[in-house]
Amino acid sequence: MSTAVVVGSGPNGLAAAALLAREGVQVTVLEAADEIGGGTRSSEAILPGLVHDHCSAIHPMAVGSAFLQSLELGRYGLEWRLPEIDCVHPLDGGTAGVLHRSVAQTAAGLGADGARWRRLFDGPAAAYDELAEDIMGPLLRIPHHPLRLARFGIPALVPASMLARAFATEEARALFGGVAAHAFQPLHLPLSSSIGLGILTAGHRHGWAVAAGGSRSITDALAALLVDLGGKIETGVRVRSAYQLPPADITLFDIAPTAVADILGDRLPPRIARAYRKFRHGPGAFKVDFAVEGGVPWTAKSARRAGTVHLGGTFAEVAATEREISAGRMPERPFVLVGQQYLADPQRSVGDVHPVWTYAHVPNGYAGDATEAITAQVERFAPGFRERIVGTAVRSTSGFTEYNANYVGGNIMTGAKNIPQLVFGPRLTLNPYDVGLPGYYLCSAATPPGPGAHGMCGAHAAEAALRYLSRTNRSR
Ligand SMILES: Cc1cc2nc3c(=O)[nH]c(=O)nc-3n(C[C@H](O)[C@H](O)[C@H](O)COP(=O)(O)OP(=O)(O)OC[C@H]3O[C@@H](n4cnc5c(N)ncnc54)[C@H](O)[C@@H]3O)c2cc1C
Repeated sequence: MSTAVVVGSGPNGLAAAALLAREGVQVTVLEAADEIGGGTRSSEAILPGLVHDHCSAIHPMAVGSAFLQSLELGRYGLEWRLPEIDCVHPLDGGTAGVLHRSVAQTAAGLGADGARWRRLFDGPAAAYDELAEDIMGPLLRIPHHPLRLARFGIPALVPASMLARAFATEEARALFGGVAAHAFQPLHLPLSSSIGLGILTAGHRHGWAVAAGGSRSITDALAALLVDLGGKIETGVRVRSAYQLPPADITLFDIAPTAVADILGDRLPPRIARAYRKFRHGPGAFKVDFAVEGGVPWTAKSARRAGTVHLGGTFAEVAATEREISAGRMPERPFVLVGQQYLADPQRSVGDVHPVWTYAHVPNGYAGDATEAITAQVERFAPGFRERIVGTAVRSTSGFTEYNANYVGGNIMTGAKNIPQLVFGPRLTLNPYDVGLPGYYLCSAATPPGPGAHGMCGAHAAEAALRYLSRTNRSR
């Protein structure tokens, strides 16, 4: 029987481990933290029974992932829930851009921009499941569906600021811009539309789902499947050097490329070690979880029914803040994402006290406290919010790095999504999962298709590892 070691138990590490175990490989996962799950952990951080997601919250890519569906994780307790409204982007004055799962319903609410929204999303959303075969993996390969990919890819090449100018209303511009800002990149750069278009298209097909009971249910289900297939997980084991790695036919790293360079040292081919050491980390996140009595009193009524709310005002304002954080400067009013997962999953609340998840985009390594900036942004669009807060839990950029070594300087994307890293991954190669040592693979969100709890980086890396096992005739 072939053996594998996976370093890191995030959704990608566990997805890779489960796929390998399903193919008959004996897998051991080594996790630095005392708890599995990486960026999908949840806990009762403020009040007993009140469930907060530490990191990932909303999952349009994961709910639509054909790979996760193939694992039938429902057998291990994973259940997806959809909010009534996917996302709202409120503006000063009480109006808002409102995103529904249905393209037609979203377009109907966007007035003069409805037809434009439909032109952008009708076709790609209807064909998302085929499109995902091309966009949820390395971009440098022969596409399965070239025409569909071209139809999606041409607008994705364009800077978000240019695509936004095609909309006539501030609501549509802001709605699109808030989702494009998930890339943590200045919105005037080429390809800055791509991540937002991917999220919007997936969401129009599958919805902005939350995992019942907290995002931890995603990795709890993967871990239960792995154990059922004979795999083992050891927590509290931080791998710092290659000498700590147990002997195995294949080794996969669910960690940042810089950390792989540290662990493998001079075993790595020098050109790959250089590329990994030059790997860039993007801006950071500063997170505040709130316990809120009676929920957030949003001025825009639609936001009271939305799983996600984006706060940053107009497209121009969001674009300015994203440019500032990329230049290392903290804006006075940062872009803030708010998650109200409890609306789709009421079991996370305690009576009328609800868990509200927020984080702000801040410069990498930002040493200040953004709690007041986040609170003020919520208060701006929901006057009276402050009086309803009954507790908070804060995680700074350095807190993120302590929590998970992959989040260098609070960069929750496991690497900047600048043009080269977005297109090629951590180095220029046709196989971004290959670390250049036979039998060793990178499977973290630093590889395509990038961040999210969809497990696709892990699945692609595991497939590359299985091809290596077949080539080298190691029995499985
Ligand atoms: C605040 C925040 C909000 C987010 N929101 C969303 C969202 O709404 N939707 C979404 O899809 N995604 C979201 N994400 C991103 C998502 O969580 C990540 O992209 C995803 O978790 C990446 O998975 P991964 O398996 O690559 O790595 P990770 O989840 O980062 O897991 C890596 C694991 O490796 C362990 N590790 C690191 N170094 C070592 C070592 N040397 N030895 C042993 N173990 C090690 C870590 O402890 C960790 O458990 C968010 C992330 C954060 C932090």
